[in-house]
Amino acid sequence: MVSDIILDIEGTICPISFVKDVLFPYFLRQLPALLDQYQYPLLEDVSDPVKTILLKFPRDKTAARDSLYSHIKALVDNDVKDPVLKELQGLVWAKGYHEGTIKAPLYEDAIQGMYTWSTRKDKKVYIYSSGSVQAQKLLLQYVRGINEPEAAPGKDLNGLVSGYFDTTNAGPKIQPTSYSKIAETINTSPDECLFLSDNPKEVAAALEAGMQSYLVVRPGNAPVESAPAAKISTFAQLDL
Ligand SMILES: [Mg+2]
Repeated sequence: MVSDIILDIEGTICPISFVKDVLFPYFLRQLPALLDQYQYPLLEDVSDPVKTILLKFPRDKTAARDSLYSHIKALVDNDVKDPVLKELQGLVWAKGYHEGTIKAPLYEDAIQGMYTWSTRKDKKVYIYSSGSVQAQKLLLQYVRGINEPEAAPGKDLNGLVSGYFDTTNAGPKIQPTSYSKIAETINTSPDECLFLSDNPKEVAAALEAGMQSYLVVRPGNAPVESAPAAKISTFAQLDL
């Protein structure tokens, strides 16, 4: 019996290309104008949230606009998991979401599953993603079905989610202890939890912690040779 369904985001409920093809380019398009509004070297101004984040980059980079731009662009291009970059991107993406420019395309079967499970008395839906909890909530606040036009009105799915986990409050996604911690936090035995992810290492870690798990295969995901669990290509295959 499954009482708690824990969902990964990228490659599971949302195409893996969304971050690379939509969010990263959006950030890079906003970046020049964002940096142009300041004088360099950057000086502290606690009343300005953007400047406060920018000043967390190395001092020598914030001395000139172009060195700061090159530094940030290189972090993005090389997909460096830099906490300051993450913070800055979060702020820029929030603006894009709130303005209606960005909407997260979610697989229709994932949206359907989230609706179905969350409205049942005996089930709850959770998110576990390496993106911050704040970023997860933002993404789920402005959703469209992947087959809907980009201009379709956004749906807010946060009401369907009972809890959010990231690497800060649960731990690394490839570590079994993170899954034990999640089960403990939501007050459920691990064997009643179902974890769905496109990453075989995450699936293996969840299984090791005693959870049930399937490997989700979506278009554009990296091919998986030896999966630690059965594969599914749509949530419609699940009979919970
Ligand atoms: Mg994933």
